[in-house]
Amino acid sequence: MLGPVILAASRSDRIRRLISAAPVTKQVVDRFIPGERVDDIVPVIRELTGRGLDVTMDVVGEDITRPEQAAAARDAYLELIDRLKELELGERAEMSVKLSLFGQALDGGHELALANVRPVVEAAAAIGTTVTLDAEDHTTLDSTFAIHDELRRDFPQTGCVIQAYLFRTEADARRLAENGSRVRLVKGAYKEPADVAFQQKAEIDKAYVRVLKILMDGEGYPMIGSHDPRLISIAQELAHRAGRKLDEYEFQMLYGIRGDEHLRLAAEGHRMRVYTAYGTDWYGYFMRRLAEKPANLRFFARSMVSK
Ligand code: FAD
Repeated sequence: MLGPVILAASRSDRIRRLISAAPVTKQVVDRFIPGERVDDIVPVIRELTGRGLDVTMDVVGEDITRPEQAAAARDAYLELIDRLKELELGERAEMSVKLSLFGQALDGGHELALANVRPVVEAAAAIGTTVTLDAEDHTTLDSTFAIHDELRRDFPQTGCVIQAYLFRTEADARRLAENGSRVRLVKGAYKEPADVAFQQKAEIDKAYVRVLKILMDGEGYPMIGSHDPRLISIAQELAHRAGRKLDEYEFQMLYGIRGDEHLRLAAEGHRMRVYTAYGTDWYGYFMRRLAEKPANLRFFARSMVSK
């Protein structure tokens, strides 16, 4: 199991400096993070949506240390939403937000993150779209769900994410599977201890199916965040059994991963949303993508050696 080792190593400052400074890093990073500035990303949004795909946009960054950085992140989202206005995509282009980037881990972070995310949710609603709150490590989730509840009072379409690897997730899914609630289900990308999360892939996959069933049988809007072909066909089957129409759930995948599958599902009439990250602070996002697939790490290591 290379993944947890990579995730643990990624916390080291030495490794961060090494990876960030490597001359080949940029070209490997570009596969997952297709731009640093809004001007880079608008053409990418046009291209994806032109191919019949929807997007959810993530300004990369986490682990900030000062409130000014949180305010800058909020402003980066507001700038993006302003640009989206002219594209007139409505809910075809939504936002994904990590509350850690909005200050959640700082002193008074719960209130700070809520104060920073609210204007983003408001601006998104004003152009006919919405925001999904990403799920980060398990210690942040009570705060994230409380912020989600608070935002949903005024903006019921605000989405959240639940992670199949956590023991708590079946209960969260039951609570969230209510009318109008948008819930993205993922396996989970953080290194979590054995007292809160399943550690084996087979157990995580089984939990994913159990939770997916709760969401499909419930009244909300399930968003299936996975590239796993087995889980995608199970999701189609469960949606069919629950009598859901094609517009009553959606698939989501990450930019740069299984692009052919994005197009195949869209061509079958499914709503397929591509999670597209951009920005300069790409390190944490990039390392989680390496950890998910050892072949990515081998590819990265090979390109470093062959330079
Ligand atoms: P896996 O079993 O990991 O992968 C299945 C197959 O997909 C692999 O065999 C491979 O072919 C392909 N694949 C998967 N990952 C990669 C990769 N990195 N590079 C190349 N190929 C790959 N996690 C969170 O903890 N919080 C979130 O908020 C969150 N949001 C997400 C949003 C979306 C839209 C998606 C798709 C994932 C998100 N994740 C999030 C990540 C998620 O938790 C998993 O780590 C990730 O999706 C890999 O799991 P998988 O379901 O694709 O299955």
